[in-house]
Amino acid sequence: MVNPLNPTGRKKDTEEEKLPRFECTMCGACCRDEFLLVTVTGSDIVRIAAVLGLSPNEMLKALDFYVVSDGELIPVGLERFPSIATEGGLSFISLKKMENSECVFLKDHLCMIHPVRPVVCRSFPFIFDESDGQRTWGLSAKKEICPGLGTGPQTSEIELKNLADTILPDIQVYREFAKEWNDNQISPSALNLLKTIISDKRFYS
Ligand code: SF4
Ligand code: SF4
Repeated sequence: MVNPLNPTGRKKDTEEEKLPRFECTMCGACCRDEFLLVTVTGSDIVRIAAVLGLSPNEMLKALDFYVVSDGELIPVGLERFPSIATEGGLSFISLKKMENSECVFLKDHLCMIHPVRPVVCRSFPFIFDESDGQRTWGLSAKKEICPGLGTGPQTSEIELKNLADTILPDIQVYREFAKEWNDNQISPSALNLLKTIISDKRFYS
């Protein structure tokens, strides 16, 4: 998840900066925050569609496409995810937010897709990057949004490594897919994009 308006996703060197204390309070605030985009990878889309038995058309209705206009700065954090060509322009794909800002999969304060929730949900409030060859981590929210920050035990290096090992390969495969897709599309559509993602074996590993 990335907060495009008030990000704190500054990269940090785990050897130089103290690891924060964090314990999820299960408050669900990250599922309801207006400004937290729940970005998804191709693997996330495949897992969610498979578990819920959603067709590409149905999956499309569960997604938002966040378009960054020419000249507009990419919100901090989103640059870790590739933008991908659709009829609306280059888009960052995220889970749909309802009118009350709740994630489309939040029902009665519970995540309806918890076992297959997107990688950004599994790692929140931590974010990871290794696009410049060096693995780095940061936070995508402050304590004002995530009350679990500053509570519980100090996060360990091994916990961060395990999270990064889960998330970064997903993002890398999606980045490779997005480059191919963007290079080959003359008139892209979001529906064809989802059909292609759901039929791409790379997202099933
Ligand atoms: S906002 Fe933080 S404490 Fe609350 S559910 Fe999300 S991760 Fe857990
Ligand atoms: S997918 Fe689940 S955990 Fe992630 S924001 Fe939606 S309801 Fe919350």
